[in-house]
Amino acid sequence: MTSVDEGGIQLDRTVFYPMGGGQPGDAGVLRLSDGREVLIRDTRWDRDTGAHLHIPTEGADLPTVGDTVIAEIDWPRRHRLMRMHTAMHLLCSLIPEGVTGGAVGAEKSRLDFNLPGQTLDKEWLEENLNRLVSEDHVVSESWITDEELAAQPELVRTMSVKPPTGAGRVRLVQVAGVDLQPCGGTHVRSTSEIGRLRIAKIENKGKHNRRVNLVLEE
Ligand SMILES: [Zn+2]
Repeated sequence: MTSVDEGGIQLDRTVFYPMGGGQPGDAGVLRLSDGREVLIRDTRWDRDTGAHLHIPTEGADLPTVGDTVIAEIDWPRRHRLMRMHTAMHLLCSLIPEGVTGGAVGAEKSRLDFNLPGQTLDKEWLEENLNRLVSEDHVVSESWITDEELAAQPELVRTMSVKPPTGAGRVRLVQVAGVDLQPCGGTHVRSTSEIGRLRIAKIENKGKHNRRVNLVLEE
C-alpha cells in the first residue's frame, strides 16, 4: 500500500486493470492480514499523475499506508469483460470501416462504425462472429515502437481515440489471421473461450454511425 485517500488506494503492484480503451476497470477486494476486506468497486488510471487508483466502495474501512494486502479481482466479471473485449476485435475484422466509438460491458457491449448510407446484415454478422469463435484463433500480443506505428497508420481502427503513444512503444494485439491492432485491453487466449455471441440489435445513430450491440449467450 503506497497511498490511501478518498480518491483511491495505490499499491506498489496490482492485478487490477484500470478503466481505459472502452473497457471498465476491475472490481474486487483487497484482503488485509488481520482479516479485514476492502471492497473495490472500480479501478482508474489518472492520466495527469499516472496514479493507478483502486476505488473503494463508499464507507469502506480504509487501510493505512504500509499495510500489505492481497489484491483479488472479481474474476467472473473480468472474464466476461475479456470475452466481450476479444469479441470486439472479431467484430472489427468483419466490418472493415472506421470505429467511431464503443463500450465494453460485462452484460452487453457496443461498437459504432462509420458507415455512411450503408446497412449491416445482422444475421450475416452473427453467423460469422460465431464462426470466428468456433475456429479458435489464438490471441497474442507484441510490441512496436511509436515510429513503427506511425509508419503503419492503417493498423489504427479507432477514429476518435488514438492509441497512447509517447511511451516509446505500443502494444499490438493479434487475433491470428483475423485482426491486428494497437490495444491495451484484456483478452482471452483464443477465440473459442469467448463462447457463443448474439447481436442484440443494430441501430442507426445519426447519418453515418451504425451501432452494433453484442451480448454473450452463456
Ligand atoms: Zn483489445
